[in-house]
Amino acid sequence: MAEPLPFPAHEVLIDGRWRDSASGERLPLLNPSDGSVLAEIARGDAADIDAAVAAAQGALDGDWGRLNAAERGRLLMAMGRAVLTQVDQLAHLEALDVGKPLKQGRADAVALARYLEFYGGAADKVMGETIPYLNGYTALTWREPHGVTGHIVPWNYPMQIIGRSVGAALAMGNACVLKPAEEACLTALALGRIAQQCGLPAGALNIVPGLGEEAGAALTAHAGVKHLSFTGSVATGRRVQAAAAQNTVPVTLELGGKSPQLVFADADLDAALPYLVNAGIQNAGQTCSAGSRILVERARFDEVVERLAHRYRTLRVGPALADLDLGPLISKRQHGIVSRYLDLARESGLPIAAQGAIAADAPPGGFYVQPTLVAGVPAAHALAQEEIFGPVTVVIAFGDEADAVRIANGTPYGLVAGVWTRDGSRALRLARALKCGQVFVNNYGAGGGVELPFGGVGASGHGREKGFEALYGFSALKTVAILHG
Ligand code: NAD
Repeated sequence: MAEPLPFPAHEVLIDGRWRDSASGERLPLLNPSDGSVLAEIARGDAADIDAAVAAAQGALDGDWGRLNAAERGRLLMAMGRAVLTQVDQLAHLEALDVGKPLKQGRADAVALARYLEFYGGAADKVMGETIPYLNGYTALTWREPHGVTGHIVPWNYPMQIIGRSVGAALAMGNACVLKPAEEACLTALALGRIAQQCGLPAGALNIVPGLGEEAGAALTAHAGVKHLSFTGSVATGRRVQAAAAQNTVPVTLELGGKSPQLVFADADLDAALPYLVNAGIQNAGQTCSAGSRILVERARFDEVVERLAHRYRTLRVGPALADLDLGPLISKRQHGIVSRYLDLARESGLPIAAQGAIAADAPPGGFYVQPTLVAGVPAAHALAQEEIFGPVTVVIAFGDEADAVRIANGTPYGLVAGVWTRDGSRALRLARALKCGQVFVNNYGAGGGVELPFGGVGASGHGREKGFEALYGFSALKTVAILHG
């Protein structure tokens, strides 16, 4: 018999109150490690979104809107401290819900705390400018909150994604309506409880779980929402942007990627290898910034593949609570998608260089897949072009620097890139030449880095979250020109 959850998971949080969805409908939440029903969550819909937007507007017009920047920051920092006292509990929830190994869930919880600390500390440090203007005028700028902001987050990193978007939005004085993913929303609900315990005014953060096409679509279409932050698939991102256009509201889209790691012959391989492996398998490869394409200079191709393969053969997959290298995939659907790519690799005759193993005692109902290294993949092949969102890493050979850049930039995506070289000039040339939002030289963040602005170009989306940049995205600049003679 599974342990009961520390709170009822089937409620929405609106205006500081936990209650059933307006329809009373619920959705099952599955444990990806064994496929069992873990809990029921609310099936929020347009009526709940309507109430949540009204509550957020009420908070802006009331207690939340009256706080000054330092007071908002203090509340966020209190939430960050509270998260730090519950790292193990949050990691446990994420293990049950997302199938994430405990150590990875702990890292996510600490990152959530860091976002809350960072944005709490930044809340009263966002300043405007005075502008030299015509004689007799004083011209200045300041930043104002958009108002009610909508946050649609996926299932892969709920804590980190909520931290970076809701944290920044609250710091700037917006009031939030959060729609977590139907596949995983327990840590979102836990954060709602933490916010209440820390005294966040009612309505500043409202949480409405539900289906994307119901609660999510209602949020994107709501005329009372003045900014939308979306993380997820390209297809849904386009829908979100189209809906936002109807209300002419700004959108931040954090979509997928097929991020390359470029390994030159002069690279320090001992330093690179742990990153090359981890960036492909972290969270079972379900990471938008996964380093899922490893591009290797031909002179060292065989050596790199051999060393990667050696490590891949040692990788172990199993239930999240067993805390192995990888847990299961999030769902049967995701398992089907990744399995089809592995079938395609075999049908195309691509060399499977190595695979990890699924633990013998992994429950048969879990959504497990072996981490797989596919070597010598042509750059135009679907496995080298499409986001698989599973632990499948392809290795591609390149000739010279120009070839490497052409292959690296040769997908519709542009989120992150890694460069491994001891040549400083080359590192700088590549940092400029790579079409993406973040470049890591001789390291790879896999989406980490609370302080580092993050976001993509092309099919990876637009707008930036994380770092100070997010605070600009979650506010509108107002210019004031005063004629005083
Ligand atoms: P998705 O884009 O469908 O879902 C992400 C979020 O959007 C969820 O909260 C969902 O409920 C919501 N949503 C879905 N349809 C919506 C709609 N019409 N209007 C508003 N909100 C809506 O992603 P998914 O179905 O969970 O995964 C599909 C693929 O997306 C994956 O295979 C993966 O490639 C990609 N993905 C990327 C990321 C990322 O971080 N970039 C995260 C999750 C999934």
